[in-house]
Amino acid sequence: MAGIAAASVGFSGGKEPQAAPGPSVEPAAVNSEFDAQLTTLSRGADDFADRATRTQERVDLQQQRQEEQRRRAAEAARKKAEAARREALRPKFVLPVTQKGVGELFGAIGSMWSSRHTGLDFPVPMNTPVMAVTDGTVVAKWNSSYGNIVEVTAPDGTQTWYAHLASARIRSGYVKAGAVIGYAGSSGNSSGPHLHLEVHPGGGPAIDPLAWLRSHGLDPT
Ligand SMILES: [Zn+2]
Repeated sequence: MAGIAAASVGFSGGKEPQAAPGPSVEPAAVNSEFDAQLTTLSRGADDFADRATRTQERVDLQQQRQEEQRRRAAEAARKKAEAARREALRPKFVLPVTQKGVGELFGAIGSMWSSRHTGLDFPVPMNTPVMAVTDGTVVAKWNSSYGNIVEVTAPDGTQTWYAHLASARIRSGYVKAGAVIGYAGSSGNSSGPHLHLEVHPGGGPAIDPLAWLRSHGLDPT
């Protein structure tokens, strides 16, 4: 106790403690704290700037995507309109061969047929491309009278038959008018290369192909 008292006495008896000359501790501590705050503030500002930049990038990206979507939608609409225009303009009925001129007419009496001629003949060379007169579903068959025959059934049910072909180009599927479906020949009950065309509305009895073609604005003669 005596020591403490002596020290206490001694301390109080001496001069008041004074700050040492030179840089004080306290301002340095304040500066350091201020620096730390500045650093924090600065980091906060950087973070804010980063976030702002990222937000802007997201906005830009979103705008780019929306712009791209608008561009794609416009392109799709343009293509759809163009396809519709082409579809409206394309012929829905096409002559089965490009060469003009017909041979044996529908209803003619000939030695080759058991009854009257049930189709219209097109005298064309061997392997002449034969086209579908209408859009429709194709079926290729073999028949001892018709030889290689392709039948096309149009959406309205009208069947067109292409007979005595050298070969069918396609055996099944859907075609548009003008598509090459086979090549003319002389298969089956035939005396020489030609295309024999028959028309069967609704798959029923044959009608005159020439009158039918003409009713659709086509004249093969
Ligand atoms: Zn014929």
